[in-house]
Amino acid sequence: MTTADLETEVQELRARLRERETDVERLAQELAETNRGVVALYAELDDRALTLGQLSDAKTRFLSDMSHELRAPLASVINLTRLLLAHSDGPLTSEQEYQVTLIQRSAESLAEMVNDLLDIAKIEARKVELHLESVPVSEIFAGLRGLFRPLATNERVVFLVEDPPEPLVLVTDAQRVAQVLRNFISNALKFTDAGEVRVSARVLGDGRISLDVTDTGIGIAPADQHRIFEDYTQVDGPIQKRVRGTGLGLPLTRKLALLLGGEVQLESHPGEGSRFSLVVPRVHPSEQSA
Ligand code: ADP
Repeated sequence: MTTADLETEVQELRARLRERETDVERLAQELAETNRGVVALYAELDDRALTLGQLSDAKTRFLSDMSHELRAPLASVINLTRLLLAHSDGPLTSEQEYQVTLIQRSAESLAEMVNDLLDIAKIEARKVELHLESVPVSEIFAGLRGLFRPLATNERVVFLVEDPPEPLVLVTDAQRVAQVLRNFISNALKFTDAGEVRVSARVLGDGRISLDVTDTGIGIAPADQHRIFEDYTQVDGPIQKRVRGTGLGLPLTRKLALLLGGEVQLESHPGEGSRFSLVVPRVHPSEQSA
């Protein structure tokens, strides 16, 4: 190779290098532009998140104010119907008795809905305080037995609360655990025409405790099993339409279960029955790390 050839080759190489440099510069420029775009998108996302957060706060405040305002007048209605039904102001005709009972039932289910709404608002605003204590499962179960025995009036349905297989003690908020189970039990009684509603406890393989409400009722189709945990969702069906409800109970139980460091599990087969479980750790997570 002559010196001239060599020079030409070096020049070619230099030219190629310059081209590459221009390419790299162009790419760097493009990258900088893309970066600016991404930063702008992030800023927009932040704005949206802020607006959503503000909207959600406004919704929570509204729910909480509204349910507070509704509670007092509803309590008066319920108390008045009790007085009337106790015949403290004189006897009622059978038609009046029937009508006042209807008013009482409607007011009670409205009060239940208002309480659920208030609870949901409180949870969303992170204003629920848990009262953690050591409590035997048998004590929670005894409370439920006492509460539901008089309410389980359908003679074709046996209401059973099993004693736990071993002495189980939880460190948890017993009131909230009972609230979740009350919800499962009243649903189970509503949707079971014949057979049984059974409350029981199991120790799972991972050491968590499963508190189960098992019924032999209408069951829930697989497609509906997730939906019923969403706010205001009820299953469409002739039986479901007949029973009163708000569609707020299960979403609330799911939120409460999360607060308790656990979860709600459901196993159900249409026509055979359902098992709703509150699965919780023996010791609430906030006490485990302490
Ligand atoms: P509500 O009972 O007030 O309508 P829930 O959120 O407690 O609201 O329940 C939502 C729906 O889930 C009910 O309307 C019913 O269709 C279904 N469901 C709940 N529990 C049962 C059950 N044990 N058996 C069959 N269906 C159930």
